[in-house]
Amino acid sequence: MQSFTYAAPHSVGEAVQAFTQASAHNPRFLAGGTTLVDLMKLNVESPGHVIDITGVEELASYDVSGPRELAFGSLALMSDVADDPVVQSQYPALSESLWKAASQQLRNMATLGGNLLQRTRCPYFRATEFPCNKRAPGSGCSAIDGVNRGHAVLGVSDACIAVYPGDFAVALAAFDAVIDVVGPSGTRSISLVDFHLTPGAAPHLETALAGNELVTRIRAPVTRAGKASTYQKIRDRESYAFALTSAAVALHFADGRVTDARIALGGVATKPWRARAAEQSLMIGQPLTETAARHAGSLAFADARTTKQNAFKIPLGIETVVESLMIAQGRAQA
Ligand code: SF4
Repeated sequence: MQSFTYAAPHSVGEAVQAFTQASAHNPRFLAGGTTLVDLMKLNVESPGHVIDITGVEELASYDVSGPRELAFGSLALMSDVADDPVVQSQYPALSESLWKAASQQLRNMATLGGNLLQRTRCPYFRATEFPCNKRAPGSGCSAIDGVNRGHAVLGVSDACIAVYPGDFAVALAAFDAVIDVVGPSGTRSISLVDFHLTPGAAPHLETALAGNELVTRIRAPVTRAGKASTYQKIRDRESYAFALTSAAVALHFADGRVTDARIALGGVATKPWRARAAEQSLMIGQPLTETAARHAGSLAFADARTTKQNAFKIPLGIETVVESLMIAQGRAQA
């Protein structure tokens, strides 16, 4: 690991100022450290200055009691939010997406903001002896003709097929969440579905966040579709594994007919993936049947582009959507 200097500010203003003052030294914000420290040990990330924001108390709280939105400070811990009784009962997809991520030890350390910003698990990205356009722009992509079983089938490019590894952001995408950020020029808000970028020709650019901006808050509008929601995650083992496919689904019915449907996909795309065409296919004022659910699942993968090893993600992803829709419907009827 490369040596670095260290600062521990106690306010958002101090944190932004510390970052600006260290801009010549490739600074990074450090929160739970469950991604950054790993990457520093591998020399994938080599900051010259680390700004530890864990003492910025104003970012650590969250509030799910408001009439219009849920608001999560970026330093709220995954385990605390996953276990919150209001989130569990009124927005089960959010709780499940957190519970099904990582391990209990990691969830006790990891923050919501850091979770949004976690980087890909593509093995070539983490092994500096291999070409990787995301880590070293222009060097090539070792995965396209290499080991790519876990890689993306949606939102891919000729430069990168790395999958976005997170779960919570997928659930947030289904709930139209917004990310509040702050930088030297002030504050702004970015829609969750616009926060992460598809790789295109520049896979090293992963989010709409400017290099000197800090995520401060995650907000999700209150919705009547929250209660009938679920996050289903299919993986090689039932714990401590990344998704092969996942789906966050939220539904609302009136008189037994679908009036609101949200579907977001994980484990299959280069960013949290909102499946709008699939949603629209369900919003026709009809009851939800398994046939309609399977049609929606097929639409969600209509633009998929597979590689030698990951074509299985299409049928598995369709079944994940079907199962999630049926579970959400069951919760609506409970
Ligand atoms: Fe790098 Fe992306 Fe290719 Fe993986 S898929 S080797 S992250 S460019």
